[in-house]
Amino acid sequence: MTTAYLALGSNLGDRRRNLTRAVSVLAKTAGVRVLACSRVWETDAVGGPTQGRFLNAVVKVESHITPLELLARLQEIEFRLGRKRPAAKWAPRTLDIDILSFGRHRITSRNLTAPHPRMHTRLFVLIPLFEVAPRFVHPVLRKTVRTMIAETRKAIAADPARAHEGSVFPTCGGPWRTGRPASVVR
Ligand code: ADP
Ligand code: MG
Repeated sequence: MTTAYLALGSNLGDRRRNLTRAVSVLAKTAGVRVLACSRVWETDAVGGPTQGRFLNAVVKVESHITPLELLARLQEIEFRLGRKRPAAKWAPRTLDIDILSFGRHRITSRNLTAPHPRMHTRLFVLIPLFEVAPRFVHPVLRKTVRTMIAETRKAIAADPARAHEGSVFPTCGGPWRTGRPASVVR
């Protein structure tokens, strides 16, 4: 059994429904147990062409399958919810699910890098991650989520080109059982 953290994002279609459905399909996936969900955060898109704002959330799961099997299940969920692939990198998407970390494993295979190489620089990942795992420590950088948030905020404040990255606002409720923020679902 391994604890993994997943980042969900949607900026196309019914964004909240996409996240909610993703979590409910995830909860029914064999070998995966959903332990907790962050609230849903609305954020400006980072990278790529000008596009609509994202809804983002982080989900904590217990995995009884391998990291590559988990990635395959997540990609199936992306497809099921209408994701078109291949699409341009950073194109708008109905659903994106990234593996932020898989236990303390360091994975550098062709299809999977974990911890996710950009997780420590993205406020839209770190803030909801803090909600579900306030004591999270990055397995490679050995930094707490609190430190990574502080460092990222500082870097954003120092760089006008990154100002939009500071646009991360909570919405009401989470992707699962709306109205129970950061609740543990079992
Ligand atoms: P991105 O999430 O970077 O915007 P995609 O969702 O289209 O782009 O993913 C592109 C590829 O990234 C996937 O086919 C997957 O194999 C690979 N990948 C590498 N590391 C990860 C990870 N930690 N989580 C999810 N996908 C990953
Ligand atoms: Mg992805």
